[in-house]
Amino acid sequence: MNNEPEEYQKASVPELPAMYSEVAQGLAYLHNRTNATTGRTLEAASFTYALIELLIEKGLISLDEIDERKKQVSERLLMRFLKHDAGVAIQEPEQDKYTFQQTVKIDCENRLHLCQAACCKMVFPLSYQDIAEGVIKWELSRPYRIAKDADGYCHHFDRQCKGCSVHDQRPIPCRAYDCRNDRRIWLDFENKIVNPKINDPDWPHNLNIPEMEIPGRESDVPRPRQDP
Ligand code: SF4
Repeated sequence: MNNEPEEYQKASVPELPAMYSEVAQGLAYLHNRTNATTGRTLEAASFTYALIELLIEKGLISLDEIDERKKQVSERLLMRFLKHDAGVAIQEPEQDKYTFQQTVKIDCENRLHLCQAACCKMVFPLSYQDIAEGVIKWELSRPYRIAKDADGYCHHFDRQCKGCSVHDQRPIPCRAYDCRNDRRIWLDFENKIVNPKINDPDWPHNLNIPEMEIPGRESDVPRPRQDP
């Protein structure tokens, strides 16, 4: 019986080295993060124990007080950890992409020659639904952000027809995104004036803060698509 993941079994021979390399990259990322986290945890623990010992020695606090406060702080930190996680990004809130109602229709076909489908260069996290479905690829080195290729475009972007090769299964941010007020792409949507920096290789990281801001929105309000 072949125990390899289904994706490996289906892969043609030339695809395998690339997949192994992605897996190796993902593992290296995990090991690096684990080492860094362990180092920081040990350092923090040393400081904390030293501080507690000193405070007890000086009669400023008691062990019971520490235990009681520790319970309260642990609960608070656990909630924070569950919300932000250790560098892993997941789409929230979770919605069913197949019943998601798209509210805006953009005339992309008349604009692609200007915008170059820049929206398919942005980074966003996948949902549990996308991950479980297994169609949309994500970056092994930056879970669970959508996979991008070397040219900066999404792995699923069809360069020939400038369209989505997984249109039926595309994630919610691709369904919900409204570029009209996104100044990273359009300086003036109605008059088709595109941001001149759109073709820079490091777009949108080449933009300064005002260019990244979307008028009328607070910068900390979650956007349907964003490039961290
Ligand atoms: S999944 Fe499709 S629509 Fe979404 S970014 Fe990739 S190519 Fe674009």
